[in-house]
Amino acid sequence: MRTHLQHFINGEWVDSTGSETIDVLNPATEEVIGQISNGTTEDLDKAVAAARAAFPAFSRTTKEERIELLNRIADEYEKRKDDIVEVITEELGAPLSISEKVHYTLGLAHYRQAAKELETFEFTETRGGKVIRKEAIGVSGLITPWNFPTNQASTKIASALAAGSTVVLKPSELTPFAAIILAEIFQAAGVPKGVFNLVNGNGEVVGNGISSHPDIDFVSFTGSGPVGQKITENAAKHIKKVALELGGKSPMVILDDYDTKKAAKIAVSALVLNSGQVCSAATRTLVPKSKLEEFTEAVKEVLPNFPVGDPQNESSFMGPLVSEKQYNRVQGYIEKGLEEGATLVVGGTGKPEGLDQGYYVKPTVFANVKNDMVIAQEEIFGPVMSIITYEDLDEAIEIANDTVYGLAGYVVGEDEEKVEKVASSIRAGLITVNDAPFDFSASFGGYKQSGIGREWGVFGIEEYLEIKSVVGVRVGVPS
Ligand code: NAD
Repeated sequence: MRTHLQHFINGEWVDSTGSETIDVLNPATEEVIGQISNGTTEDLDKAVAAARAAFPAFSRTTKEERIELLNRIADEYEKRKDDIVEVITEELGAPLSISEKVHYTLGLAHYRQAAKELETFEFTETRGGKVIRKEAIGVSGLITPWNFPTNQASTKIASALAAGSTVVLKPSELTPFAAIILAEIFQAAGVPKGVFNLVNGNGEVVGNGISSHPDIDFVSFTGSGPVGQKITENAAKHIKKVALELGGKSPMVILDDYDTKKAAKIAVSALVLNSGQVCSAATRTLVPKSKLEEFTEAVKEVLPNFPVGDPQNESSFMGPLVSEKQYNRVQGYIEKGLEEGATLVVGGTGKPEGLDQGYYVKPTVFANVKNDMVIAQEEIFGPVMSIITYEDLDEAIEIANDTVYGLAGYVVGEDEEKVEKVASSIRAGLITVNDAPFDFSASFGGYKQSGIGREWGVFGIEEYLEIKSVVGVRVGVPS
């Protein structure tokens, strides 16, 4: 049993001021694997006070000191590889290979990337007779979801530390154990007392507490739209800056000149990664009308290469969904798709054969989807693809943009001009062409209802900075 009832505050593990606990389940077995404390507002106040006290000294560290710190964190993170892989497989249900190749790797990448960005980052510059300074924003409250336990927390923490901000993290109560390992990593790496604080608990108390806390200067949230709205409302009371990474319904536009089988492989792998629990997942697949049949046949052929199964089994590509709630949500959308008259190509309701225990779902593909159907408009957050046909490129772009979201977009094609036309026309924050890998020096974040602000690389660091102009000083002498 993983039982971690303490919070990490001011450089040490401390008991909660409350006695309530939260059970954490393994979604593959549906069994309780441990407990965390359901943190209280007093716990949060202590963490915020520690972060506030640590801020003046930490914000004045040099960027060289922070580069060293980030690299020490990355080194310690590497030493905990086995623990991170194991914990993510247990609490999220990600297959071991995905925990390693995706979750472990993404988390690590953010610390290395932030250190690299700092090398060339200018915190002070002179412009037309004034000094422009970029200063750490203050105490940052970080609220993260369950779908990428180390990645979501690490992109925020790495950016905050690079900027010189101190933080209070509240991870998802569904997957809290990866963050406990992160706290141990920061301790081992010598992160100064109070710079990183972890308070476990639910959204109602600790989450709301962060967004409404008068002593927190900035809230960075990743999660659902309704919670993002609540956070923004709370933050408005103290005019607190907010960054939101919310949901998506991202289009993948497949051009008619691309090899259909290769396109199907790209589309399917973008759909099933992390059991479809990816905010930037390509869930609306736009194919030329003339290629619909060829494409759906190719999808059927490719899908068995991404087997669903026990996360402990090395050959599994997809594990279960994270919870019963998420399972029911995805089942509801599959039923809705059938009701709306979309054509079921593969998958459907119920559990895959032989996987009765655990929150497993069948990867499901619908064809003949109209973009105004619920399954094409709402974020399902599971492995459900909607194939929508288009007549010409203008129609493809119109369909791609006919959504309240704008987190990501994908273009699969050979003709560079057409690829560029689609890439520049989709109103979304990250466009991926063909099978390009992740690039953490790029920006990540949404247009429209997908959010406010950017993460990753230099763009993430900027979020944790305030800009100050100093006029009237002798140019070249930073104040
Ligand atoms: P969620 O919004 O329910 O929870 C996210 C976090 O917010 C959790 O830590 C939760 O405890 C906390 N929370 C809940 N209520 C709160 C409140 N009132 N005040 C403050 N915090 C509160 O989301 P989830 O179910 O954990 O994650 C799934 C959602 O997250 C999906 O909609 C998905 O699209 C989105 N997501 C977005 C991104 C992105 O980068 N854009 C990444 C991952 C997930």
